[in-house]
Amino acid sequence: MNLILFGPPGSGKGTQAKRLVDERGMVQLSTGDMLRAAIASGSEIGLRTKDIIARGDLVPDEIVIALIEERLPEAEAAGGAIFDGFPRTVAQAEALDAMLARRGAKIDTVVRLLVDDEALLRRITGRFEEQGRPDDNPESFKTRLGAYNAQTAPLLPYYEAQGKIRSVDGMGSPDEVSKAIRESLETVAA
Ligand code: ADP
Repeated sequence: MNLILFGPPGSGKGTQAKRLVDERGMVQLSTGDMLRAAIASGSEIGLRTKDIIARGDLVPDEIVIALIEERLPEAEAAGGAIFDGFPRTVAQAEALDAMLARRGAKIDTVVRLLVDDEALLRRITGRFEEQGRPDDNPESFKTRLGAYNAQTAPLLPYYEAQGKIRSVDGMGSPDEVSKAIRESLETVAA
């Protein structure tokens, strides 16, 4: 099964993706994690994207599409991927559908985490104080939320038209949200 965890920055996609990996043995494909690894390693992609990410803007589509494409064979071998933070634009979603179709695969479902803006701000502020991730500062977070609303939210009608969206309450504890995701996935054919 291939699933997308969908939601604004701070909605808990990364946390829930890791839990799904533990429960189901699927592979987590997080473009945010891949880009942070590229920055840490000092690779060319890291150098090209570091400032964009720190500001809270989206990196160019072709970069993240290539990062994902490289990892699809591994995900396929594991029985499926959990896409976390990708796709973030309609162009990325179209590219993902095409890449999967070439491999005889598809997105089975999109799990949308619903969290209100006030809670997002609270979580990100807390994470900035604890972990100091550069793009969690208040100014960059505002930019990230703006990018989500302008460029990523338009994916909702895209996947809605395919009948793939399952909405889950993302306001509870991580355990509560995991349980809600598990229940919503019970209705997806394997
Ligand atoms: P969050 O979901 O908390 O915003 P991520 O770790 O998914 O954090 O992403 C961090 C940053 O990495 C984004 O703000 C953006 O700059 C960049 N990024 C990650 N994934 C993508 C993507 N699919 N397209 C464009 N930029 C991306």
